[in-house]
Amino acid sequence: MLHRPGEPLALEDVAEPAAAAGHMLLRVRACAVCRTDLHIVDGELEHPKLPLIPGHQVVGETEDGRRVGVPWLGWTDGTCRFCVSGRENLCDRARFTGYDVDGGYAEWCVADERYVFDLPDGVGDADVAPLLCAGLIGYRALRLAGDGERLGLYGFGSSAHIVAQVARWQGRRVFAFTRQGDEDAQSFALSLGAEWAGSDAPPEELDAAIIFAPVGALIPRALAAVAKGGVVVCAGIHMSDIPSFAYELLWGERVLRSVANLTRRDREELLALAPQVPVRTHVETFPLEQGNKALAKLRAGGAMGSLVLVP
Ligand SMILES: [Zn+2]
Ligand SMILES: [Zn+2]
Repeated sequence: MLHRPGEPLALEDVAEPAAAAGHMLLRVRACAVCRTDLHIVDGELEHPKLPLIPGHQVVGETEDGRRVGVPWLGWTDGTCRFCVSGRENLCDRARFTGYDVDGGYAEWCVADERYVFDLPDGVGDADVAPLLCAGLIGYRALRLAGDGERLGLYGFGSSAHIVAQVARWQGRRVFAFTRQGDEDAQSFALSLGAEWAGSDAPPEELDAAIIFAPVGALIPRALAAVAKGGVVVCAGIHMSDIPSFAYELLWGERVLRSVANLTRRDREELLALAPQVPVRTHVETFPLEQGNKALAKLRAGGAMGSLVLVP
């Protein structure tokens, strides 16, 4: 439970939540940790419900025994100009799991049944949980990055380790950017099919780049790395300020854009595609009580793949 941003989560006994009409009560089987959770806990996203149970990559079990997923997008109005044009991810009144409503760092979770979806069999709870945001946001970012063959991934964490597998399967070439000297992350990227991993300029021009690291200074660097017509996608919900840069970096029809949230269509596409690749997530599990430890590991940059809390 988060009471005040900037403070550690508190372990508390709370009453089993009641499911209102149109909602489901779920027993949480696993909840993956997302960098967004860290931004919320650290106070970089400014308006969380308080007190708050974070967590929006929830694998839950319904009262009748179905295994379902609860993602970040927890509710939309269905009526605003974004919703009616197929862009519910941009809904003016969207509510988000683990931010506006309580999420999955808990034993029980309540979710709007319209946004809950069945999960495929054959993948463990902890292994499938990171697909629910890291995988989905990464997939949406990859789609918006276009069809370019040479793809740069800046920040090789939970999302990138999934996207790299999908991109390789699509026949793309992957170039992984890590923090200076982070040899563990670089060898992890190479083991997942990246043909180059480093922290400086790539060995050749890229066609597209996705920035997962919350570091605005990477934007001019990524623009400098992509060829004419290249696309740079910022996949995080929060980023430090972008330093000013020469127009020349954007010239040549380079495109810079962000990705916000996700739609139910993204989820249908990724869940259909993941078993074909097949996507294999690398996860480290923590007991629910050790949520602060998992967040600290993510904050320190020590995670290889995804971190998952298991009640
Ligand atoms: Zn809307
Ligand atoms: Zn997330």
